[in-house]
Amino acid sequence: MSTETRTTCPYCGVGCGVIATVSDEGAVSVKGDPDHPANFGRLCSKGSALAETLDLEGRALYPEITGERTTWDKALDMVARTFAQTIATHGPDAVAFYVSGQLLTEDYYVANKLMKGFIGSANIDTNSRLCMASSVAGHRRAFGADTVPGTYEDLELADLVVLVGSNMGWCHPVLYQRLAAAKAARPGMKVVVIDPRRTATSDIADLHLSIRPDGDVALFNGLLAHLAKSTAIDENYLATHTTGFADTFAAASALSFAGLIESTGLSANELRQFFGLFERTEKAVTCYSQGVNQSSIGTNKVNAIINCHLATGRIGRPGMGPFSLTGQPNAMGGREVGGLANMLAAHMTIENPEHRDCVQRFWNAPTIASRPGLKAVDMFEAVADGRIKALWIMSTNPVVSMPDADRVKAAIEACPFVVVSDIVKETDTARLAHVLLPATGWGEKSGTVTNSERRISRQRPFLPSPGEARPDWWQIAEVARRMGFEEAFSFRSAAEIFAEHAALSAFENDGARDFDIGAHAAIDETGFDALAPFQWPQPAGTGPRTTRFFAEGRFFHPDGKARFVPVAPDVPQRTSSDFPLVLNTGRVRDHWHTMTRTGKSARLSAHIAEPYAEMHPADARGLSIGDADLVELASETGSRVIVRTLLSERQSRGSIFVPMHWTGETSAEGRIDALVPPVTDPVSGQPASKHVAVQARRFAAA
Ligand code: SF4
Repeated sequence: MSTETRTTCPYCGVGCGVIATVSDEGAVSVKGDPDHPANFGRLCSKGSALAETLDLEGRALYPEITGERTTWDKALDMVARTFAQTIATHGPDAVAFYVSGQLLTEDYYVANKLMKGFIGSANIDTNSRLCMASSVAGHRRAFGADTVPGTYEDLELADLVVLVGSNMGWCHPVLYQRLAAAKAARPGMKVVVIDPRRTATSDIADLHLSIRPDGDVALFNGLLAHLAKSTAIDENYLATHTTGFADTFAAASALSFAGLIESTGLSANELRQFFGLFERTEKAVTCYSQGVNQSSIGTNKVNAIINCHLATGRIGRPGMGPFSLTGQPNAMGGREVGGLANMLAAHMTIENPEHRDCVQRFWNAPTIASRPGLKAVDMFEAVADGRIKALWIMSTNPVVSMPDADRVKAAIEACPFVVVSDIVKETDTARLAHVLLPATGWGEKSGTVTNSERRISRQRPFLPSPGEARPDWWQIAEVARRMGFEEAFSFRSAAEIFAEHAALSAFENDGARDFDIGAHAAIDETGFDALAPFQWPQPAGTGPRTTRFFAEGRFFHPDGKARFVPVAPDVPQRTSSDFPLVLNTGRVRDHWHTMTRTGKSARLSAHIAEPYAEMHPADARGLSIGDADLVELASETGSRVIVRTLLSERQSRGSIFVPMHWTGETSAEGRIDALVPPVTDPVSGQPASKHVAVQARRFAAA
C-alpha cells in the first residue's frame, strides 16, 4: 500500500505544503497539500517537479577526508580536534560557520548554540545574509524587533498591492497565483509593480514603474511627503503609536519634485498616478523582496516603505501593511534561532546584555558571544586574509553564490581547514573541502521551516537516509560532544531540539520579545510528528492567537512606539565610463540557486537551458551586439563572464539582467556573482547584487 507524508517544499519562502506519496515499488509522486494555509493545494513548476530531483546521482553518501572515504568517527574527530586546536591557539574568532536558509530550524539552532554559547564567538552567518538581512535591520529599526506584521491573506484582502523589487511571478509563484486569483475575483483591486525590468510579474500590473536602480528611497520619500499633505495621514496614529515623524518628514521633503523625477527616472504622470493610488486606498500592502534588500541602501529602502505605512496607520490590520518576502525556504527560521552574526536565539540581540545573560543561563553555557560576529562578506574577507583558519560550510555553495565569487573561491582554497556538509558531493565548494560530511536532504530529514508569513511547518521524512548521510544537527552535536560539551548537545531527535528552542523563546519572556512559541515547549515525539502548520507567536496558555502583529499599535521598542526612520534619498553612483551598464542578477522561474537539485529535472531545465544576458535592443545595437551573440561582461572585480544575449524591450535601457544559477570551473562559464563587488549595506551587511557596474562587448573566440 502506498504511503502519504505531509511535508513542506524546500525551495522558496512561500513555504507550500506538499503531500509526498511513495508507492509499493518505491516511486515518489508529489501534489500540493490542500489543507496547508500557504498554498491550499497549489504547487508551482519547481514544487511539482520535486519527485524528479530525488535520485542519488551525485549525492554525498560517505564522509571523506581529503577526497578519501572514511568513517564518521574519524571525520568527526578530525573536525572537533582541528576546531579545538585552532581555538586554543588563535582564539574563538579564528573559526567560523557559514550556514544556509536551506537548513532546518533545528540544524540552525544547534549550530548557533555551539558557536555563540560554547565556542564563544558570533562568527556564524548565513547565505540568508544575501537574501533578507536588510529587512531584518529595517524591522528592528522601525518596530524594535524583526517582526513581519502581516500574512499572505493580506495580499488577497488588499485593494492595492504594491510589489517593489519583486518578480513574484517567478520567485514566489504560488503567492503570485493567490494574488492573481484575488485580483481576477475583485476587478477593483489594483497592482503596482516597481521594478527596472518588465518581468512576468508585471503582466498583472495596472501600473508598472520602471524605476531607476536604487531609486526606491527617493520614491517612497516622495510618497511620504505627498501623504503628509493629504487626508491619508493618520495624525492620531502618529501621536499615539510612533515617534520621529517630524525629522523623517523633513528628510523626505528634501527632494523637489524635479529631483524626484531625476532620482527615480519616472515621469511626473507616473509619480502622480502612484501617489494618488496609495493616498486613496486604505487597504494597501507593500510587498518587497530582493530588489529592495540586495542594495547598499537596502535598509533605508525598507524603512522608507515602512515610514509610509506608519504615517497612514496602515499596519497590523487586514489587507494592510509592509510585507517582506524571504527568498529561501527557511530564511525566517534561521532568523528565529540567531542564524545571523548579530543576533542571538529567539530574536534576542547580542548587543543587549540582558539578552546575553538570558540565553547563557538558559543554555547553562560556559560563555556567550559578547559582540557581533562577521557578516557573510566580511567573513570570507577574514578567510582570505587568514584571520579565519577553520571554516565549516553547511548546505550552501559560496564559491558560486557569494559576491566576488572568484576571490571567495581562492580564499576557501587557501584556508587551512575547510569542512563542508552537503547532500551533493561535487559542488564547486564541496570540491575544496578537507572534510566532506554527507547530509540528509529533503524527503529524508525531519524538522521545521518558517515561511515569509511566520508560519512554522514540518518537513517530514518519507525516504530512508542514503548511504551514511546524517542530519546536519546530528553532525554539529557530535562535533560539540567531542569538543567536551556532552550534556548541552545530547539531543536525540529534531523534536527535542524544537522543544528546547520553544522553551527558550518563552524563557523570561513577559511579552517584551516578539518571538514566542512557548506553547510547544513540552512537545514530545508524537506531538512533533503531528504538528500542524502554525503562525508564531504561540505563547503558552493564551487561548486564540493573533495572526497579525501591531493591531493594537504596540511595538517592541521600550516605549511601545514604532520609530520613523529619516532616510536620505541618495542614489549611489556606480557606473563610470569604463563600466557604463548596470547589471542586475536574479532567479529564473524553474531553477533554484545553484541548480544542485532543479538541474536534475529535464522538465525544469527545458524552461531556460543556459545562462543569458538580457539587454535592451538599443543598447545592444550601440555595441554591435546581436540577439543570441556571445557577450563578454566584466566588472571592477576583474572577473569576466561570457553568456549569450537575449534582446528584449522588457529590459530597461542601460541595464543587463543575468540569472545567478549557473556554475562552472571558471566564472567565464556563467558564474555571474564573480562580477558582483563586495559592496554591502552598512547597516545590514547585505551585498548590492542588483546594482553592479559592468562593461559589455561582443565576444569573439581567439
Ligand atoms: Fe515551492 Fe515556492 Fe513553488 Fe511553493 S511557490 S511550490 S514553496 S517553490
